[in-house]
Amino acid sequence: MAVVIVGAGMAGVQTAVALREQGYTGSLTLLGAEPHPPYDRPPLSKDVLLGRAEHSRFEIDFDELGIGLALGRRALSLDAEARTIRTDAGDLGYEHLVLATGAAPITLPGLPASAFLLRTQDDALALRAALRPGTRVVVVGAGWIGAEAATVARQLGCEVTVVEAAGSPLAGALPTEFGERTRAWYAAAGARLLTASAVGGVTTGSVQLTDGRELPADVVVVGIGARPDNAWLAGSGIPLDDRGAVRADARLRAGRDEVFAVGDCASFPSARYGRRLAVHHWDNALQGARVVAANILGGELVYDPVPYFWSEQFDHMVQVAGVIDPAAEQVARGEDTVLWLRKGRLEAVLTVDKPRDLAQGRKLIDAGALIDPTKAADPGIQLKAAGV
Ligand SMILES: Cc1cc2nc3c(=O)[nH]c(=O)nc-3n(C[C@H](O)[C@H](O)[C@H](O)COP(=O)(O)OP(=O)(O)OC[C@H]3O[C@@H](n4cnc5c(N)ncnc54)[C@H](O)[C@@H]3O)c2cc1C
Repeated sequence: MAVVIVGAGMAGVQTAVALREQGYTGSLTLLGAEPHPPYDRPPLSKDVLLGRAEHSRFEIDFDELGIGLALGRRALSLDAEARTIRTDAGDLGYEHLVLATGAAPITLPGLPASAFLLRTQDDALALRAALRPGTRVVVVGAGWIGAEAATVARQLGCEVTVVEAAGSPLAGALPTEFGERTRAWYAAAGARLLTASAVGGVTTGSVQLTDGRELPADVVVVGIGARPDNAWLAGSGIPLDDRGAVRADARLRAGRDEVFAVGDCASFPSARYGRRLAVHHWDNALQGARVVAANILGGELVYDPVPYFWSEQFDHMVQVAGVIDPAAEQVARGEDTVLWLRKGRLEAVLTVDKPRDLAQGRKLIDAGALIDPTKAADPGIQLKAAGV
């Protein structure tokens, strides 16, 4: 039984490792378009960009695990009937296929050489080399990547302006009140934040806003989101959802018994949240990989996680467990923890610098526990004690 995994990022690597951990002894190939040894992405916008770490390579001995790395090799198309992947270095057959191609950053047209994306190791190292004290940096997008890039650029002594088209930072990801709260973090760090400001163009030395303003910029960082990287599946019959993610089923199968999809490239139905989820966060790539490995080996595990992510920005650790629905009942627990309840059960928790609340909230969500909202609102009582 040969397993081929396309995509050597977190989801692909963890699937390969989990297969070995779960006892698979057959042929295992990890195909990755990037030429570098597989690496972890979160440090790219943190320690690697700051220069505190040279790289974020996974400390995994692929040889010892018998995982064949085919790096610098891109899958170009898939013949699912013939179970063959066409790559830029010849065809590859499989018995089980794992789709783990992640997401590609959304970019702006006509970017000059002074503009950078922040998705890959190459991106991070190139950007790092361009950030010096006094460099005028314009960050396009005040989402997770934009906020983290701005944090590091300020730490490196750059002059930073962040431009966001929406009315507040983190719009789309978190409720407006929370995004508004982070405004003060930008100010305290000495970063200028311009919201409701759309970028019309980027040229060498400047960023033009659609309202006519022009911002001088030695360096531009574009952090405006990412889309599932699935174009190579066109015509393969593998189902995609309306956002281009592979439409996996509850066991992460992708339209065929022998094909699975995991990580940023996929969406899956969540019975817990009553809808299809596409989760572009690290923990999803880790947890989903374990389920895929088990199901390749004959299991029938259902994947229905409590999604989790963190972001380190402006000296704060923001963490979210669950899926926030702004229409759910909101309970504030002091200044730094917000809970969302539905029918008395905890559905999501957001914390700032409160890892214990996050950990306890995550367990309560996972357990589907009923919550006493009065106790939950009292930061003097441990959150776990609010479960009834
Ligand atoms: C800068 C940065 C910081 C982040 N920080 C955080 C954080 O703080 N917290 C958090 O929860 N999440 C964070 N994330 C998100 C997290 O890293 C991703 O959710 C995770 O990497 C997804 O893993 P993946 O394997 O699905 O995709 P990826 O990591 O994108 O890996 C997919 C791999 O597939 C390869 N590939 C694509 N197409 C092909 C093809 N046709 N053939 C062969 N190979 C292909 C790509 O080159 C890539 O290497 C961050 C992401 C970035 C970019």
